[in-house]
Order: sequence, then structure tokens, then C-alpha cells
Amino acid sequence: LPEDFKQALPVLEKIEQAGYEAYFVGGSVRDHILGLPIHDVDIATSAYPEEIKSIFKRTVDTGIQHGTVTVLLNDDSYEITTFRTESGYQDYRRPDKVTFVRSLSDDLKRRDFTINALAVDLNGNVIDKFDGLKDLDKKIIRAVGKAEERFHEDALRMMRAVRFQAQLNFKIEDKTAKAIADNAPLLSKIAIERIREEFVKLLLSRSWQTGFADFLNLHLSEFCPGFKDKRTELAELLESKDKVFLDEEEAWSAIGYVLNLNHPEFNHFLRNWKVSNKTREMSVNTLKMLHLFESQDFDVWNIYKLGLDNFKRVISLCQIFQIEFDYDKLRQKVNQISIKNSHDLAISGKDICQILEVKPGPIIGKSMSQIERAVVEGNVYNNFDELRHYLLSNQ
Ligand code: ATP
Ligand code: MG
Repeated sequence: LPEDFKQALPVLEKIEQAGYEAYFVGGSVRDHILGLPIHDVDIATSAYPEEIKSIFKRTVDTGIQHGTVTVLLNDDSYEITTFRTESGYQDYRRPDKVTFVRSLSDDLKRRDFTINALAVDLNGNVIDKFDGLKDLDKKIIRAVGKAEERFHEDALRMMRAVRFQAQLNFKIEDKTAKAIADNAPLLSKIAIERIREEFVKLLLSRSWQTGFADFLNLHLSEFCPGFKDKRTELAELLESKDKVFLDEEEAWSAIGYVLNLNHPEFNHFLRNWKVSNKTREMSVNTLKMLHLFESQDFDVWNIYKLGLDNFKRVISLCQIFQIEFDYDKLRQKVNQISIKNSHDLAISGKDICQILEVKPGPIIGKSMSQIERAVVEGNVYNNFDELRHYLLSNQ
């Protein structure tokens, strides 16, 4: 057993001593078998939530309605979920009803893909009801049971398939792939936040190109905001052979670029995807800067205003899109910018009041911006006496 599992063993042992079953399940089992790092260890049990709460002293009801209780033991916390089946799915998303059950097999049956439907007991034995081990070995993503039905139950699983494909560099098995292509329109039933979460994980994966290619080929993209009839444009992203995106903002900007969106359109597009305000603003600024570089416009004030933090994203995007520019010239210009933001100025608003002998007011802000620009453009040194002199002579 890997270290992360060993640490959780006392939890499983306590549950078993109380007369119930407990297993490691889900992503941690899959990643352990693949030899990948494990992030969170999920535990599934035959004990009902109330029973788990009576076994352990310290617990938190993290998701009690779907059977999840967090157990605190020796400075660590563990999510323990009761075996359950789901039924209903009237709306192609959440089940109408969750039923707690005592059988591990029933719990594994409701899981999305065979590689995610493995369990490990406290002795390290693997329970493999759906040939998940074989699929792990053959690098295949295959729905548990009838793919069509499984995507009808929860359409998000189609996005999860391409996400896992990108993360693991696996292939989606033929019947599963066909079921995605046939049912892609059901994606419209799913909340955009949930789609986005999977989509961003896909984009930030090592082998994102494989997942993204199927996202397009299996028509999932058609049912995402701003992607309708844009397969050809989006496919341009795939030409960047083995580039990876540094972060979410770079990935979004790359998409804005291939979709040929102007800045207000891109902003609107990101609002439709409901990305956070911070990510949206940074992505828009990154795209703006990319457009500046493309037109060889290296105005230092513009670059500074768009944020130097975006600089490395833009350089990376220029590689992806083979945008040629005079790197040395740009580097030289950027290096000459001596401040990160207005807080780095060697003069404060209070100083300005004293120097100009005025009371605080709009004039101060105006003077500050003027000084900031002069410093950024290299017209005055960022030192108090120089700035004071500049201020007085530019009255
Ligand atoms: P990650 O490494 O991203 O955490 P994961 O496989 O652990 O991957 P989770 O979203 O954490 O994914 O879900 C944990 C487990 O719950 C999955 O491995 C799968 O067995 C099951 N699961 C999660 N979401 C679904 C779903 N929409 N339909 C069916 N089973 C699901
Ligand atoms: Mg997980």
C-alpha cells in the first residue's frame, strides 16, 4: 500500500472493527495503480453516516445528504462516503434520489468509468468488478455498463471522459465515444460551472491536445458557450504540438485568440463561461498584450498598464502561435521599466500635498499618474528629489 493509504489504515480498521466494510475507492486507487501522485484519498463504507458518526469522536457533516462525513483523526481528515445507488436523473444531471446501500458492488456500479470503479481493501487487495485493471493497462476510458444510459443519467460524464483522456493520455473506447457523439446535446442541461471545471482541468493537462481533439470530434464543443460552429477555429489550437498552458488565463487567452474575438467580445465570452472576475480580467489583458505584440507595438506604458505578470503568458502564446517579434528590443524595453506598480514610486500622495502646498483632492491622483507614466517611460528617475523636481517643473 502507498504511504497515503497506510496513513488512513487506522480509519478503515476502526470501521471494520465496528462490523462494517470500508475500502479505498475512486481516483486515488486509479492514480496509485498508474504510479501517479495521489491527491485525496476517498473512502467508501457500508456503514451509514450516523453509524460512522458513532464510531469516531470528531466528525464533520460535509455532505451528509449524499452520505459523506469527514472524520478527523490524528491531525488528518478523511472523507468517508456511504455506499449508495442513485436513481431518477429526470433532468440529465443530478439523481432525484440517493439510496444508501450495504453492497460495495452496487456502489461501484454507479461510478462513471471502469478505471474509476476500482476499490482496494485494507490488505491491499484490489476489487475489480468491471475490468478496470485491464482498461488501465490498455489505457482505455470505458463507461461502466451501457454508455448511452450512463450519459443520460448524468451528461457531465461526457466532459469527464475527455478530461480524463487529457490527464491520463488514454483513448476513449469506441462505444463510449459513439455514445458521447450521439448524446453531446445533453451537455446543454448541465450548469456551466460544472462544465467549466472539467474543461479547465482538460486544458491544464499534460496531454490536453488528445482530450481537446475529442472534445471537438465528439461534438461536445458545439454545446459550450461561444463554441458553436467554431470547430475549425478551435482546431487551430491543436497545431501547437506539445506545448502546455502555464495557467488557466493563458489557456483562455489562446482560445480568445483563435476565435478571433475582439476585447469586448472576449470579455463577454468569459462572462458566459462564468470564470472568476480575476481570471477574466487577466485573460483579457493577456489577449490585449498579445495583440500588441502581434502588431509589433511595444509601447512601454501600454505593456506596463496591462500588467507585467501577463508578460510570460504572452511570450508563451507567441511560441504557440508562432508570432514573430523582436524579442531583444522588447526585452530591453521591459527591462527599463523600473517599477511594478504605483506603490513602488519614491513619492507618496502625502509628499505631493506638501510639495505643491495643496489639500488632498483629485489633483493628487492626477499628479501621481503623471509621475508614474514619466517613470515607466524612463523620463525621470524614481528617486525622491528627482520626482520632486519633476513635479514642480511640470506644474
Ligand atoms: P480527481 O483526480 O480529479 O480527483 P477523481 O476520479 O477522484 O479524479 P472525483 O471527481 O474526485 O474524480 O470523483 C471521485 C470518484 O467518484 C470518481 O473516481 C468516480 O468513481 C466517482 N464519480 C465522480 N463524479 C462522478 C459522476 N459524475 N458520475 C459517476 N461517478 C462519478
Ligand atoms: Mg478525487
